[in-house]
Amino acid sequence: MGIDIGATSLDIALADVTGLILQRRSEPTDVHLRPETVLGRCSELLLELTQAQAIHPPQILGIGVGVPGPVDFARGVLVAPPLMPEWENFPIRDFFKKTFVSAFVVVDNDVNIMALGEQRAGDGIGVDHFIFVKIGTGIGAGIVSNGKIHRGSDGSAGDIGHICVDKNGPLCACGNRGCLEAMAAGPAIASRAMEAARNGSSPNLSQMRKSKGGAIRPEEVNAAGREGDQAALDIIRDSGQMIGDVLASLVNFFNPSHIFIGGGIANFGNHLLVAIRKAVLNRSLPLATTHLSIKFSRMGLNSGVVGAISLALEYLFAIEDNPHMLV
Ligand SMILES: [Zn+2]
Repeated sequence: MGIDIGATSLDIALADVTGLILQRRSEPTDVHLRPETVLGRCSELLLELTQAQAIHPPQILGIGVGVPGPVDFARGVLVAPPLMPEWENFPIRDFFKKTFVSAFVVVDNDVNIMALGEQRAGDGIGVDHFIFVKIGTGIGAGIVSNGKIHRGSDGSAGDIGHICVDKNGPLCACGNRGCLEAMAAGPAIASRAMEAARNGSSPNLSQMRKSKGGAIRPEEVNAAGREGDQAALDIIRDSGQMIGDVLASLVNFFNPSHIFIGGGIANFGNHLLVAIRKAVLNRSLPLATTHLSIKFSRMGLNSGVVGAISLALEYLFAIEDNPHMLV
């Protein structure tokens, strides 16, 4: 089974041992809720899927779980997750083991499983060195190096959302100022759009703010941009440039052949992508960019859940080969 828990949505799937998805369910969630509430709902949905396929819970062999925060991969727990402080050290594996007693449960962060999904079923097939960037409520990266996910020593590799862009910038959920995430992710885009609506620099956004009861979401900024609203386009381009500047450093450091961009903000289309590309090309070394491809992931909402299943399968077969891993 694969579980992709995003900040605002749940995606759950049941697959056979070849990774073929048999049944799938998605619904909105809110990770600010307690872990018992969100994971309890995941368990209910998983049970519904098993019932629909006439499978008993003990027959489930593996569960891959993606969560939107820093994961200590060896222990399978979140450590100081800015979006969801109540999840700190919550035993996610044990929670699912109560119902799915035979399952091996693997927990990873949401961007790593998206990178795995891209590698398994997207344009990342056969690509040995790539970065998957998720831009949504937060910003993070999954790094595939030599064909394998690079998690680093403790699991925090790729957490690019907290790289400092402006020391005097707005306060980030992590407690520092001017992190990429606080400057360029969905909430930052929405808050800059609110400012443009308030100060009258965008009549279009002002109108949207009124019709939406006083709030603007990133989707509305995107819609305004599509209609040619200059303030909205500037906000989107600025965001793309800041993300591109950080990616340029990663390109110099890691020399990937591909960068795939996914997450909610990836729907923003060409203005965002062009700004990201321009910043990367301007600031990276020519040798690193000659063959570099930067594009949106074409897997949309599928990469997370496909990757979660891929993660479960990877560990399932690794254990078959090395039973001592089962501790
Ligand atoms: Zn931060």
